[in-house]
Amino acid sequence: MINLELPERFEGLTQLMRAVAQNVLRPISRKYDTQEHDVPVELKAIDRRKMAAARPTGQEDQPPAGSSGERQVRNGAAMAGVVSIEQMSWGDVGLMLSVPGSGLGNAAINAVATPEQKERFGACYASMAITEPASGSDSGSIGATARLDGDEYVLNGEKIFVTAGGRCDTVVVWATLDKSKGKSAIKSFVVPKGTPGMEVVKLEHKLGIRASDTATILFTNCRIPKDNLLGRADVSEGGKREAFGKVMQTFDNTRPGVAMMSIGCARAALDLTRELLEPEGLELEYDKPLWEAPAIEAEIYRMEADWEAARLLVLRAAWMADNGQPNSMEASMAKAKAGRVGNAITLRCVELCGSVGYSTETLLEKFARDSKILDIFEGTQQIQQLIVARRLLNKSSAELK
Ligand SMILES: Cc1cc2nc3c(=O)[nH]c(=O)nc-3n(C[C@H](O)[C@H](O)[C@H](O)COP(=O)(O)OP(=O)(O)OC[C@H]3O[C@@H](n4cnc5c(N)ncnc54)[C@H](O)[C@@H]3O)c2cc1C
Repeated sequence: MINLELPERFEGLTQLMRAVAQNVLRPISRKYDTQEHDVPVELKAIDRRKMAAARPTGQEDQPPAGSSGERQVRNGAAMAGVVSIEQMSWGDVGLMLSVPGSGLGNAAINAVATPEQKERFGACYASMAITEPASGSDSGSIGATARLDGDEYVLNGEKIFVTAGGRCDTVVVWATLDKSKGKSAIKSFVVPKGTPGMEVVKLEHKLGIRASDTATILFTNCRIPKDNLLGRADVSEGGKREAFGKVMQTFDNTRPGVAMMSIGCARAALDLTRELLEPEGLELEYDKPLWEAPAIEAEIYRMEADWEAARLLVLRAAWMADNGQPNSMEASMAKAKAGRVGNAITLRCVELCGSVGYSTETLLEKFARDSKILDIFEGTQQIQQLIVARRLLNKSSAELK
């Protein structure tokens, strides 16, 4: 039997996150959309570590009533993560990305760092710097270099579109030890802010998630200790698996999170649309046959069905992660579907509400702008489809580009 309900023990977490979204994020949502690049000081009150403590950990759930009970299932950190993200993104995606300590670099450190490195960097606020002017979707083509000189690596290169790059205290930088060796030589390096030779040179002006800072960072003969390299330094196939491969695997865990941002943002648009249209006579009656529903209601039912399907894909990918099942394909399916559905719903909600939806009087137009990036970063729609196709057809990245 498939049980589509979240376990009861997630209710407290859901309510806590919704309360933070409602009472902390929403009231300042428009403010930081307008005052791009201002640091949202109100977020300092949110301590990510305290919120993490409120999360249920990897306990085993009771088998659903009526099932054979042979197989125990776990809903742990991955499920708690997406449940939190859903609620916080309902509040404001850009602000959620600006909560100190929530960087993508943290995910890489957690996944790849040695115990000693976790001790040093575990409490940091770390962003992740992969993208370069000539390297985006194809992360195997990066040109930033790292050269070993005595006990230090010397980094050179330019990283662009680094989320939280201005506000974080540490950056996980991807660079190659030897361009001729391809992916095997690409390693990630932890570079604390303030290291000489590292400079934030620009903050982007953006369409959406304007509360979140997006930086260009230059590395010019930037020296870091040798043991700031995450994973293995050797450029063999084994070294590739232990460094590039493992960092890439962190995306299997973070993609469902980004997919859930789309879900939270789309839910916010659907909720606001309903709030705006109910006084105008919209009545949603879910037990009415679709063919009897007025066009606008039928449109909302269709969007909600698509939203639900995308959300279930995200929950499945998170559940697989908690249960130790390889979920690369499912994580990409979730991200592709949720990104597309999120973009379509938020834009359609603007249309349904007409000029009110388009005006800055409400947050609807902002939800549509915020939603767009969720189908681009951490792998675009097309790249997710490519990953799914490779898995289904059992092709390598060299065979299917
Ligand atoms: C607000 C924001 C925040 C970001 N945060 C970060 C961050 O924290 N760290 C970081 O490293 N990067 C970050 N990025 C960069 C982001 O991950 C890249 O923009 C994304 O990976 C796409 O790369 P690109 O922009 O170079 O586009 P390209 O790779 O040049 O792609 C352009 C278009 O071509 C399509 N395309 C590319 N290859 C293929 C293919 N093989 N088959 C079919 N279609 C293809 C893409 O889907 C896309 O539509 C951020 C970007 C933005 C806008």
